[in-house]
Amino acid sequence: MDLNQEITRRRTFAIISHPDAGKTTLTEKLLLYSGMIRTAGMVGSRKGQKAASSDWMSMEQERGISITASAMQFEYKDCKINILDTPGHQDFSEDTYRTLTAADSVIMVIDCAKGVETQTRKLFEACRLRGIPVLTFVNKMDSYGKGPIELMEEVESVLGIPAAALNWPIGCGKEFKGLADRAKNEINLYTKAKSGGAAKPHVDYMDVATAQGNDKISDEEIASVREDLELLEMAGNEFTREAYLNCKVTPVFFGSAIYNYGVEPLFDALVELAPSPAPRPADKNDGEEIEIAPDEDFSAYVFKLQANMNPKHRDCIAFLRVNSGVYEKDMSVLHHRTKKKVRLAAPQVLMAASRETLESAYPGDVIGIVNTAGLAIGDTVSHKGGFEFKKLPYFQPELFARVVPKDLGKRKAIDKGLAQLSAEGTIQLMYEYNDTFSYPFLAAVGRLQFEVLQHRLRDEYKVDTRLDMLPYTCSAWIKGDASKFKVPFNSKLVQDCFDRPMILFSNPWEKDYARKENPDHELLDYA
Ligand code: GDP
Repeated sequence: MDLNQEITRRRTFAIISHPDAGKTTLTEKLLLYSGMIRTAGMVGSRKGQKAASSDWMSMEQERGISITASAMQFEYKDCKINILDTPGHQDFSEDTYRTLTAADSVIMVIDCAKGVETQTRKLFEACRLRGIPVLTFVNKMDSYGKGPIELMEEVESVLGIPAAALNWPIGCGKEFKGLADRAKNEINLYTKAKSGGAAKPHVDYMDVATAQGNDKISDEEIASVREDLELLEMAGNEFTREAYLNCKVTPVFFGSAIYNYGVEPLFDALVELAPSPAPRPADKNDGEEIEIAPDEDFSAYVFKLQANMNPKHRDCIAFLRVNSGVYEKDMSVLHHRTKKKVRLAAPQVLMAASRETLESAYPGDVIGIVNTAGLAIGDTVSHKGGFEFKKLPYFQPELFARVVPKDLGKRKAIDKGLAQLSAEGTIQLMYEYNDTFSYPFLAAVGRLQFEVLQHRLRDEYKVDTRLDMLPYTCSAWIKGDASKFKVPFNSKLVQDCFDRPMILFSNPWEKDYARKENPDHELLDYA
C-alpha cells in the first residue's frame, strides 16, 4: 500500500477521562469490535492482575496500575487505529499531557452521573491548547445519572465548547433501550447479548418517521423520541466536520460501554470524522516556522521515555511518534539535537497482550525503541536534519516538594540524578528566583512522579531520600517583567530550569487575586 493510503487510513487518538468513567472498558470494546480479542475482560484485568504486558516496571507491578502511556494498534473497518494510553488516577502526570501531543484526536469519556470531572477538564484544556479535536462519549447510560440536556449544558459551560449531540438516548437507567441516530433519522434498539458485555448486542433498526410501537418500545416512547429530535433540531448546536476538526464543536454520543450500547456509532465516528495525521509545525534551524507534511521523508519525535521497563536489562525505551514518511526496521537517522547518526533498532509495537517487533511504521504510528542513543523528550529525528518539531509544552505543576538525601554526603549523586531525571522529563526542577545555585526543588503534575523519582534515585543512583512536600497547589509562568510582579503573601516567585519566572500559589484564589493585582502581567498555565 502506498504512503498516502497508509496516512489516510491512520487514526491515532487518546481516550481522556476522569478515573472510573470507563476508559478501560471502552478501550476493551474497541479491541472487541476490531476482532483483536474475542471476549471482553482481558484489558480490564490489567488493573487487577499484575502480569499484563503494559505493566513492566516493578513499581507498576507492585501497584497494579499502568504508569506509562503505551500504545495499541489494530485494524477497524479498513482503518489502522492507534490508541495511546493516557495514564490517569494517581499516575496522572506530565506523561499524560505529553502523550496527548502524539494524538491526532481524542475521545473524551464522561460518566453520566458525574458529569465533567477535574481530570477531564485539565486534559480537555491540553487538547484545546494543542488544537486536538474531541469526540465526546457520555457513558453509563444504563445507570441513573444526569439528564442528557443537563450533560450537554455542563460540557458547554465547564469546558467552554459547543456540544452537538449526534445521537440521543432513548430512556435511561434500567429503561435505557437504545439511541436515536440523528443523521439517519433512525431508532436503534439494543438487546443485550446473552453473554452480557462480552459480545455485540443485537440491534433493531426503525425509521423514526414510520416507527410503530412493539414489544420493545411503546408508541409513547416513540412519540417522545420524535419530540426530543425536533427539539434538538430547533435548539441544538449545528454540527459540521470542519467545526469539529477546528475544535469549535464537540460531537456527543451516548451509550453504555459495558453493554456495548452506542459503542459502534462512536467508533464509526472515529473512522468517519476523526482526522488522519496532518502536517506538524516545526522550526527550521534559522528560526523560520515550517510544517512537515506526513508524506514527506521520514521524521519522528520523542514524546516519552520509559526507564527500567525490564529491570533485568535496565533499558530505557524511547517512544517516538512517526510524523512523516516510512519507518523501516533498523534504519539509521540523524538525531537533530546531537547531529549524530542513530540506529532506530529493535522497535516494539505495544499491544495489550504482547510486545511484537515491527517491520515498518507510518505517520501516526508509535515506535518504542531501546534508547541507547540518548534521545531526550521532544527530540526530532529524520534523514536530512535542519529543523526541530515544536517543543512540547510544559504544564502547570500542582505539586511541589524538596527531596533531601538521607545521607547528606550524597549531594553529588543526587544532583546528578535530579539533572538526569529532569532532562528525561520525570520531574520539573525549580530554583529560587535569580538564584540557580540554591538547592533545587521539584515540581510535578502528579504525585506519582515524585514516587517514581525517589524509586529511581534509590535504584539507579543509590541515594535514599526523604520527600518534604511544600504547601503550594498551583502555579503559573509569568509573562512580563517578573521583578515588578506583586507577589501575594503566601505565594513564591521562582524560576524553572530554563530560567523562566514562575509563581507558586497556595490556592487557586490566590492565583486569581494575583492576576487581578498584576494587570500588566500575564499568567500562563503552560510554557
Ligand atoms: P477507567 O478508570 O476510566 O478506566 O474506568 P473503567 O473502565 O475501569 O470503569 C470503571 C468502573 O465503571 C468499572 O467498575 C466498570 O465496570 C464500570 N463501567 C464502565 N462502563 C460502564 C457502563 O457503561 N455502565 C456501567 N453501569 N458501569 C460501567
